[in-house]
Amino acid sequence: QTHAEPGNTHVVYDVRIGESHRDKLHMEARMVKALEHREFELFYQGLRDVRDDRFCGFEALLRWRDGSKMVSPATFIPLAEETGLIVRIGTWVLRQACTQAKAWADAGLGSPKVAVNISPRQFSHPDFLATVRDTLRETGVNPAQIELEITETSVMNDAESSIAVLHALREMGLQLAIDDFGTGYASLSYLRRFPLNRLKIDRSFVNQLGSDGNGDAIVRTVIELAHCLGLSVTAEGVETADQEALLRGWSCDVVQGFLHSRPGPAEGATQLLRDQTALTSALI
Ligand code: C2E
Ligand code: MG
Ligand code: MG
Ligand code: MG
Repeated sequence: QTHAEPGNTHVVYDVRIGESHRDKLHMEARMVKALEHREFELFYQGLRDVRDDRFCGFEALLRWRDGSKMVSPATFIPLAEETGLIVRIGTWVLRQACTQAKAWADAGLGSPKVAVNISPRQFSHPDFLATVRDTLRETGVNPAQIELEITETSVMNDAESSIAVLHALREMGLQLAIDDFGTGYASLSYLRRFPLNRLKIDRSFVNQLGSDGNGDAIVRTVIELAHCLGLSVTAEGVETADQEALLRGWSCDVVQGFLHSRPGPAEGATQLLRDQTALTSALI
């Protein structure tokens, strides 16, 4: 760099941009192929109701089966979001999740909830409501089984139009959650106006529990705040029994984390529901 002439800097800069742009195009093309070749898969992670210590549903988490390895969404969702491909991927995710929720209900496994992540770009897309409506109709799922997880960024982008979209989703019978609560910049005044069902407290707060009095105070207060607003609370990233005990003491409604369930293929979730259903019948 120190050797670069002012004139050369420009060239070097161009080449770098060119490469990263090419990388992105290449990656995007691979994602399009992945959609066509069914290389995407949903993993499911159990949502555990603290009141009765039972799984009340699952969060659907996207995976990309690339050869023998499972690629985490952290590596490809940001690019899909940037290029807009997330809209197509997200439509596939929603359809897949609704189909699975319906299959569980049809199999007599109760009406487990399936939580689906919605990206900011998807949420603000003009066709979003129509896509959701079509998906509900075509899959025949009970909308009450589906909970859409929306980020603070999504709704704060254009708060007024977000409120209208959220109301329309609620009218379709869907449940609505704010994901990763506490990491964005949702203002408390909007929280009051958004028609939500749930706050999901981000993992970064949960994994500090018990180690830091201020962190504990924040989590406890968020739970209280949510309950005062008539919302339920899920704590994500619960890994230890100690964390769960604290959350239970503060009346957190649902815990999600490696302590009870790791994300895995749908068959594992089905088995978990079967075991739970069998146990209930045995008790009755
Ligand atoms: P998220 O929605 O907050 O999902 C929870 C993440 O925390 C998941 O990571 C899950 O595997 C992880 N997790 C759950 N419990 C624990 C725990 O006890 N310990 C630790 N260390 N981690 C835990 P994952 O599956 O890698 O997903 C990362 C993010 O990617 C998600 O965060 C979500 O924002 C996004 N994502 C996943 N699937 C989709 C999708 O279908 N559509 C969109 N738009 N985003 C998705
Ligand atoms: Mg989520
Ligand atoms: Mg989350
Ligand atoms: Mg999170």
